[in-house]
Amino acid sequence: MLSKVIGQESAKRQLLAAFNHQRLAHAYLLAGEEGLGAEELAIEMAKFIMCARPDKTNSEPCQACSNCRKISAFQHPDVHYYFPVLKSTDNSEILSMLEDKSQELYFKVKIAGGSLHIGDQDNPEKNSIRGLLREIGLRSYEGNIKVFIVTFVEEMNQESANALLKILEEPPPNTLYFLTTGYLQTLLPTIVSRCQLVKLFKIKSEIIESALRIKNHVQIEESRIIAKLADGNYAAALQLLSGDFKNKRELMIGFLLGIVAARPSSIIEAVDTLLSENKKDKALVIDVLNIMATWFQDAFYVNNLRSHSELLETLVINHDKIDRVEKFTVNFPSANLDSAVNEIEKAVDLISRNVYLNLILINLGLNLRKIIFHPRN
Ligand SMILES: [Zn+2]
Repeated sequence: MLSKVIGQESAKRQLLAAFNHQRLAHAYLLAGEEGLGAEELAIEMAKFIMCARPDKTNSEPCQACSNCRKISAFQHPDVHYYFPVLKSTDNSEILSMLEDKSQELYFKVKIAGGSLHIGDQDNPEKNSIRGLLREIGLRSYEGNIKVFIVTFVEEMNQESANALLKILEEPPPNTLYFLTTGYLQTLLPTIVSRCQLVKLFKIKSEIIESALRIKNHVQIEESRIIAKLADGNYAAALQLLSGDFKNKRELMIGFLLGIVAARPSSIIEAVDTLLSENKKDKALVIDVLNIMATWFQDAFYVNNLRSHSELLETLVINHDKIDRVEKFTVNFPSANLDSAVNEIEKAVDLISRNVYLNLILINLGLNLRKIIFHPRN
């Protein structure tokens, strides 16, 4: 069932049932945080609708006919895909992002801080709401239906939202709209009420794990750790995988060794190493810190569940490094592991809010050092 989309069985069933009974609504609003598969589901559903040779028993588009291939490559003349960009984003950058997404369905094309803009009245760009209006007015090329996938609709300004609302109020015949949003609550109620709502949910860790193994050829131990860290979000799992998960965990261990080293000044060196290797890549530093949080969590479980080996087996994330985690709990028996996780979460929050990276990490290092060496309260 639309197997390129990971999990999301109920959302798939809802759309497929409507299509199979010829009761598709004009517009669907796919709601779920980025990375759960909303845009990906819209793309795969468009393929299934347009496919020349669909496998109806298993609800799969063939992925090989001309329609499937053109949709995959974002080149189908009747399937249009809109996503937030900056005013300064040029066309070649948009095309290169679409090419990456055609290689990996879950590649994120959204540009941070970008918006779905209304576009120029006289010369509407392709990726704008006025571009969409113009497309609606043109005849369809190959099929008799035109599909418009408009992502992150919460990023629209007032003018764009009004223009879109007008379309939803009186959709031209043979047009189908898939809107996606990560922030259902912030949308204009008038937009929400004109769409059928399809909710997406966090994906089960086992489903992410098997997708990582089958699709991305990740080894068993690693796929298990990444799936747990990804917290139900497949794009987050891919993010962890990119630039090599093992490398990120080695960076984390390096940072941790700097924090517990004899000289307090080694914290500054450890921060320097972490940042210099990574050219101050915030997303990567956040991954490293999230991995560090799992380390302290695991140490907590090891300390408290020694006699419950089965429970320990399911809860511990860093299975393959369990010896090192155990060694850590022996070396630092008085570490307050709960507070350590809290401190890391606070630091991650500050980094996402653009506070000075260097300073946050040094501060985190000093706080963790105190927590690790200080007797438990
Ligand atoms: Zn096909």
